[in-house]
Amino acid sequence: MKILEVREKTCPIASPIRNAYIDFSKMTLSLVAVVTDVVRDGRRVVGYGFNSNGRYGQGNLMRERFIPRIVEADPKSLVDSTGDNLDPHKVWATMFTNEKPGGHGERSVAMGTIDMAIWDAVAKIAGKPLFQVLAERYGNGTPNRKVFVYAAGGYYYPGKDDAQLKDELRSYIDRGYSVVKMKIAGATLAEDCRRIESALSILKPGQRLCVDANGRLDLDGAIAYAKALSQYDLFWLEEVGDPLDYELQATLRNYYAGPMATGENLFSMQDARNLIRYGGMRADRDWLQFDCALSYGLVEYLRTLQMLDQHGWSASRCVPHGGHQMSLAIAAGLGLGGNESYPDLFQPYGGFPDGVKVKDSYVELPDLPGIGFEGKADLIREMRALAE
Ligand code: MG
Repeated sequence: MKILEVREKTCPIASPIRNAYIDFSKMTLSLVAVVTDVVRDGRRVVGYGFNSNGRYGQGNLMRERFIPRIVEADPKSLVDSTGDNLDPHKVWATMFTNEKPGGHGERSVAMGTIDMAIWDAVAKIAGKPLFQVLAERYGNGTPNRKVFVYAAGGYYYPGKDDAQLKDELRSYIDRGYSVVKMKIAGATLAEDCRRIESALSILKPGQRLCVDANGRLDLDGAIAYAKALSQYDLFWLEEVGDPLDYELQATLRNYYAGPMATGENLFSMQDARNLIRYGGMRADRDWLQFDCALSYGLVEYLRTLQMLDQHGWSASRCVPHGGHQMSLAIAAGLGLGGNESYPDLFQPYGGFPDGVKVKDSYVELPDLPGIGFEGKADLIREMRALAE
């Protein structure tokens, strides 16, 4: 088999929302299609991928470096030992040819997006859901199709008051979520405490709140927030300081005993390893949010999971950023702790296959070949427009 073509397109996912660091008024992502010469059920197999929100489309890097390396490679160098399917590890190594280590910037986003499409193609060629392929190849053989999901929202936007924040979070609860998340650190500490108390006021027993500072705070600010927020029973406190400031993260545990979460802006196994080595994260309560779609894809994520295992961390402490079906498949196949979800944002890319309902903050993944994009009508329409 061989890859006939790799297509990419930049798509808008703009919205008026704002977190503590950026607004999303000009946000885009890259959509990728890996077109193969394989036919299944009378249809050409095309693998699809896209990157998560927050890092913009990466078409230039793909067009200049990563796509040419794939299409110019000897097709035999990209397939597995049967010759009938792609080997994602070989495709990854081909993309990384003549790339220096370190400085993982936006290259990791471009490669991660193509890697997603490769895995989608691999599972479709195998005729299985990706979670099944992953459980068989890298897990215990049996996927756990029920995956924890939480609702991310609670952004700042112009004119939004506490009543609207409460209405928004209540709408997530009404849709079956029992864990919801809101943004902090884009206002004063006093204002954020008031917003958090508003949000907590709508929650019933068993329902929990996460708060996310999006890396906004310096050490003094981080300590002030950690002390003030210690009074609340939060599900987690997320990305308080700069994602690469491991000492700040390590210091915070002297001021905050509850669970903390971070990692969505660490884009390689090596950066993730530095967090584990130097960030003072606690394997018994903290959460890791590495997002394969921003960080070189699943080939690299497998390295990260291996690194975590070597450092005594369970995969179940990982709840990736991004709200995409790729991380859902990885969660089900490899036993991650769950996945983010954005019920009202970044459509049609986020979310679940049509008909999948959230119940007690869990979803059950259906039997769809590949990652499962074919089960989401609005999404697969966009994807097929690119490639078929
Ligand atoms: Mg976050």
